[in-house]
Amino acid sequence: MDYSSILEQVFKESKAYSSVGKIANYIPELSNINPDKFGLYIQTKDNQHFELGDSLEPFSIQSISKVFTLSMAFSLLGENIWKRVGVEPSGSPFNSIVQLEYENGIPRNPFINPGALVITDILLTHLNNPKTDLLLFVRKLAQDDSINFDLNIAQSEKETGHHNASLVHMLKAHGNINNPCEEVLDFYYHQCSIVMNCKQLAQSFSPYASLIEPFDFASVELNKSQVKRINAIMLSSGFYDESGEFAFKVGLPGKSGVGGGIIAFLPHEYSIAVWSPKLNKKGNSVRGMKALELFTTLSGQSIF
Ligand code: GLN
Repeated sequence: MDYSSILEQVFKESKAYSSVGKIANYIPELSNINPDKFGLYIQTKDNQHFELGDSLEPFSIQSISKVFTLSMAFSLLGENIWKRVGVEPSGSPFNSIVQLEYENGIPRNPFINPGALVITDILLTHLNNPKTDLLLFVRKLAQDDSINFDLNIAQSEKETGHHNASLVHMLKAHGNINNPCEEVLDFYYHQCSIVMNCKQLAQSFSPYASLIEPFDFASVELNKSQVKRINAIMLSSGFYDESGEFAFKVGLPGKSGVGGGIIAFLPHEYSIAVWSPKLNKKGNSVRGMKALELFTTLSGQSIF
């Protein structure tokens, strides 16, 4: 597959979308980013890589971190995890509280905010140094020890995070949070603030894409069946209430974040990270999604 020439076309054709969408300014610190940034990085099974634009510039991964925390919690709790969080698409915005109330505090899946807050609570209960352990896990996956939290972003979200605070209190009222709400929110904002570039993201998802043999999940113990399940949730819920649209247009499992990043992968072939900060109304990167749609269309490859 001639990925280089496909990428040239992806770059050109997706450019028209760079003026569409808005930066996530509900987290004030995120609005400092240059909205015109665009980066893309592909890591293939035979250890080749291809890149475009600002692929080495770090950005806030936000909800992409929910895959890492789910992986850690799943390895700690095994199947018991599904007593506290479901695996169905929500069909609702990532921060919706409505469904949580009428479903008695059991979030639909681990990739909407209430689900991720429950996962955060599980990690706080089971780990002595949750923040350090998370960073070590991500650094090992990405093979890069420079990865860190952005404390300004974490603080900025804490100051304005009334919506997430209401979610965690609703969960606690239903008995699905065991630690103090403030501690859950603090760890949650830290995990969202992790800063990575497209290269580090593509690298860190290569085990999920089964690009690495032998099977190795860094410091976390997951078997192939568990990884299959995490990937299934990425396909069905990785893009909130736009997950169906993403499967329809792109045809890959993946995860987005309101920092404008998207990670996606074709199992046994490649992982691909793209970053463009302007988002659509559902919180997904406009140009990022278009670039991935073009990429799978032009390459003729997808999981379907
Ligand atoms: N930190 C963000 C929030 O809780 C993450 C949301 C996202 O990336 N979709 O609102």
